[in-house]
Amino acid sequence: MGAFVEIVVDVPGIESLTYLWSGHDTIALGRIVIVPVGRRKTVGIVVGFSADAPVARERIRSVSAVLPVAPLGDDWLALTRFAANYYQHGWGEVAVGALPPLLRRVPHARARSPLLEPPSARTASSPPCAAASELPTLNSEQRQAVEAITNARGFVPFLLFGVTGSGKTEIYLQAIAECLRRQPDAQILLLVPEINLTPQTQQRLRERFPGAPVVALHSGLSATERTQAWRMAHQGHATILLGTRSAVFASLPRLALIIVDEEHDPSFKATEGVRYSARDLAVMRARLRSCPVVLGSATPSLESWRKAQDGRYRLLRVTQRAGPAAARPEPRLQCIDLRAEKPLKGLAPSVRTALQQTVAAGEQALVFINRRGYAPVVACDACGWLSVCARCAAFAAFHKTDGHLHCHHCGWSVPAPPRCPTCGNPALAAVGHGTQRIEEALEELLPGARIERIDSDTTRRRGEANARLAAVHAGHVDVLVGTQMIAKGHDFRRVTLVAVLNADAQLVAHDFRAPERLFATLMQVAGRAGRAGQPSRVLVQTRFPDHPLYAALAAADYTGFATQQLAERRAAGMPPFVAQALLTAQGTTMARALEFLSYARTVGHQLPGSDQVAIYDPVPMPLSKLAGVHRAQLLTESSSRRALQDWLSRWRAALRQTAGGGIRWHLEVDPMRI
Ligand code: ADP
Ligand code: ZN
Ligand code: ZN
Repeated sequence: MGAFVEIVVDVPGIESLTYLWSGHDTIALGRIVIVPVGRRKTVGIVVGFSADAPVARERIRSVSAVLPVAPLGDDWLALTRFAANYYQHGWGEVAVGALPPLLRRVPHARARSPLLEPPSARTASSPPCAAASELPTLNSEQRQAVEAITNARGFVPFLLFGVTGSGKTEIYLQAIAECLRRQPDAQILLLVPEINLTPQTQQRLRERFPGAPVVALHSGLSATERTQAWRMAHQGHATILLGTRSAVFASLPRLALIIVDEEHDPSFKATEGVRYSARDLAVMRARLRSCPVVLGSATPSLESWRKAQDGRYRLLRVTQRAGPAAARPEPRLQCIDLRAEKPLKGLAPSVRTALQQTVAAGEQALVFINRRGYAPVVACDACGWLSVCARCAAFAAFHKTDGHLHCHHCGWSVPAPPRCPTCGNPALAAVGHGTQRIEEALEELLPGARIERIDSDTTRRRGEANARLAAVHAGHVDVLVGTQMIAKGHDFRRVTLVAVLNADAQLVAHDFRAPERLFATLMQVAGRAGRAGQPSRVLVQTRFPDHPLYAALAAADYTGFATQQLAERRAAGMPPFVAQALLTAQGTTMARALEFLSYARTVGHQLPGSDQVAIYDPVPMPLSKLAGVHRAQLLTESSSRRALQDWLSRWRAALRQTAGGGIRWHLEVDPMRI
């Protein structure tokens, strides 16, 4: 007897297909299968059954093979389906795309995949959690937070708001421990923005839960490693899955608790393919799974903060610093007025003095500049020539380490010209400062000091970032200079001075989310100081010392900042008070890209529901040309998310009907950068 099954595949333009299943046993929902599509075979997932064939029965093809992998759960299918609908993509694209690399490939008939080996048993001998006597005693705020989380029944979203060092991680660890005590076979999903740079988290988990497999899942792993980690999770053998954003789609049949650390971090939003927010999907996943979810941050995203204010998330606050830093108040931020203090080689006099004092005292300093390379641009004073990328509408930065100009957007690079390519002037000037130039200035200012630079140029090779960070921890470094890579959760114990050099660049950015991001970054950077309880300083060089953002930072007043920002956004009708979606178009010329968007706009206006949606004018993207491709965008928004979503699905369907004319387009829901 045969049956018809609905199968989703990752093939553009196809949402789902009907196949015939003629095996002896019934086929389960969520099975991963191989099916023919056109002339080739592809991986698909069983998402439904039907009694009738949509076309003549003899035209329906059969399922070729079923992979020997346990079926994916109902809540996993529901999650991928939700994500597909919400982010305007095919279900198959999201679901099959969420499978690990080796499972997305059609296996050769006889090849034995590492996936198909029998599961290893969970090491059950040692207790899952370290002995209770070794755990730090929680303060009352921490205890209340742990109790709220572990007493939650069903879906409860929490926003855990606490300054850096307030013991949020300790709250996660004890909530996990309690969860495992009550349900020893439970699985916990812990999402973090970045794993490579924060090996401490992994180490802390392994130490705390010696008897429970902690499995990491992130893009730094090989295809085989990722597939193995995925399999551990899918088979229920991973107790704790520690992962970056894509891990939100991991299959976790016994999922009982989800934690999103640093929930405000922009890296939870995918920037290519399906532009999903792992943070938002984590909340939806908890809802579908009926389990608690904890979003933790020292500077919550304004979206999450508003939901906590509205009572849609339960707010948990930790106001005190915990552990060794508890004895001291958090370091206060101090503005260094660049109008009064003329900087020398990028460093204001009082920053120079502070650096000298810190090194002389045998303490560590951290110098933060959000720009790599030596200088962001090279200029000719004689004729006005500027170093621009040959392929992008952007400057090419000068890197002294290799004597090349580099485009930080597309990777284009050429040897730096010895003289002006236009007028021959040999005296070209490097304008502005990057990490390399600051490193040079520090070497000159602090002779004999051990200076280390961490940015994506010094950490390309695997393990290099960790080696450099370990040197800082071990005290082999006096001054660490770097980009935002050094701002993430490192627990540097001996840092007593943090200097921030070019914060103003973000202050004047036109993106309405720039202040929110700057506030979060600076709070995080400031949190690197005084971790062991030493008195410490955070100095910010700026031309706008009276800016309200710096005043809020100096007072460590997130709440005041958030209230003010939300009031501004409400008045201006910006997210989270409206829902947005961005249509981007890429073409061989800007005119074509804009033309396509104008057409899309006209189409959009004609669709039902367009009266509830504002469709703005097409404009070039801020980076209007990238790697030779011209890019334009069209913003749409509505005060009703429902109305926007309904209209978007019609709009996407209509746009898909139109031949592209060499245009590639993409629809992004809840864009983070406009
Ligand atoms: P956060 O995640 O908020 O930055 P952590 O959980 O990492 O904070 O805590 C900061 C430091 O304080 C860590 O070294 C941690 O072990 C320690 N700590 C946290 N809570 C306590 C506590 N209740 N008693 C003693 N030390 C604590
Ligand atoms: Zn010139
Ligand atoms: Zn470029």
